[in-house]
Amino acid sequence: MKFGGTSVGTGENIRRVADLVTRYARNDCRIAVVVSALAGVTNSLIEVACQAKKSDEKHIDAFTKELLQKHIEAVAVAITNKQIQKEVTLITERTIAELEKVLTGISYVGELTPKSKDYVLSFGERLSAPIVWGAIKDHKLETQCFTGKEAGIVTDSNFGDADPLMNYTTHLIRERVGPLLEKGTIPVVTGFIAANQDGIVTTVGRGGSDYTATILGVALQVDEVWIWTDVDGIMTADPRIIPTSKMLPELSYQEAAEMAIFGAKAMHPRALGPVIEAKIPVRIRSTMHPENPGTLITESEKTKSATAVKAVALIKDVAMVNVSGAGMVGAPGSYARVFDVLGKHSINVMMVSTAVSEANMSMIIRRNLVGRALSTLEIALLGRGLISEVIAEDDVAVVAVMGANMKGTLGTASRIFATVANAGINIRMIAQGSSELNISFVVKEKDGAAVVKSIHEEFQLDQI
Ligand code: ADP
Ligand code: ASP
Ligand code: MG
Repeated sequence: MKFGGTSVGTGENIRRVADLVTRYARNDCRIAVVVSALAGVTNSLIEVACQAKKSDEKHIDAFTKELLQKHIEAVAVAITNKQIQKEVTLITERTIAELEKVLTGISYVGELTPKSKDYVLSFGERLSAPIVWGAIKDHKLETQCFTGKEAGIVTDSNFGDADPLMNYTTHLIRERVGPLLEKGTIPVVTGFIAANQDGIVTTVGRGGSDYTATILGVALQVDEVWIWTDVDGIMTADPRIIPTSKMLPELSYQEAAEMAIFGAKAMHPRALGPVIEAKIPVRIRSTMHPENPGTLITESEKTKSATAVKAVALIKDVAMVNVSGAGMVGAPGSYARVFDVLGKHSINVMMVSTAVSEANMSMIIRRNLVGRALSTLEIALLGRGLISEVIAEDDVAVVAVMGANMKGTLGTASRIFATVANAGINIRMIAQGSSELNISFVVKEKDGAAVVKSIHEEFQLDQI
């Protein structure tokens, strides 16, 4: 069971989490728990680390005081037993004292590397897990708290977006966490954070507690991984954009992965990787409505649905980069050179579209990387006979329309594009992979929500 930021956002919510875990544990389930940081804490850690880097030391004191207050308040509400409260309070104080030192160090050096940033970010989960542990212990259950590193999650050294070394990790988790599960003790593991082979703290990417949960689930050969969150399951669209969106009761791994990659924030994009191979079902469900079964993600849906389109997502914070030049026409390796330059500068290309004319290609990248993409492409390729122009538009958004049954259903694309045209909105770029699981296109960001709404209506997704 993995509990997200909102699910452990306050002392009250943490109590609810402990109640849920207890209910299942008393019903003969053996459970391992993975927890995120309290809602908002990871973002605030990024902010304070960036301020510290600018040698802005005065924020550190105010920040750590506020952070301490927030967590101590949660302890007081989540845990009733005074002895456990005291124990967790002590851990919280010690952890925050360590964070204060780290931030002061960053402000002295004036440097925030990906490595030190991961160290700072690790404090969110290091603070939340002991409170959840205390709240479970409060229910008189046997439980033990682990950091990802202590549990045995070993990753590569790609700080900020690390991936587990699965063989080694599986071995360590079975050795360290496995025996506890066997005897009915509930392990509580920090999500998101792990360590590389040298024992240095890494993180597995934003929203990565989902990934921790599936890594742990595969290593422990569990029956199911449950991702408890603040929505009923995976919905036909982001409920913040479409309040009438409906929960999808079943999805295949492929469909769910497609949705996760395309911004249905309900799950980390790489989280399904480990469970697909091990064929372990994943369930997304709501801590607020635990009576709902949520979305079940398995190899293939049991009840085949006939609908072609199942969901529509909006991906913001992206930019479109257009590269053009007559030199690209008929020149083998020209696309490869563009991707090579971007890849070497750690710029991930999310979507590509090229025309048969071969004279230009459009790419979608994260918006915060657009400056770097433009300058590296210009320095490496401009004026060398290959490309003559590199331009970017940073006020765009991607709309992704998804569903496994789109494969082979004629007319889906024309219905989608007619809907967008009828809304008077211009499409800037289109891509459809031959998997036919999704059709993605780019519009101006200001039009994004309207496009999502009209497609949701056209395909009657609120009646799915
Ligand atoms: P957690 O903190 O539990 O990991 P997240 O905030 O990462 O939760 O993800 C849940 C949020 O994802 C929801 O509150 C919802 O607003 C957003 N979301 C976006 N698209 C979808 C979708 N298609 N289905 C469900 N949730 C979505
Ligand atoms: N706390 C981390 C984040 O906000 C990981 C997670 O919540 O899954 O990205
Ligand atoms: Mg999340």
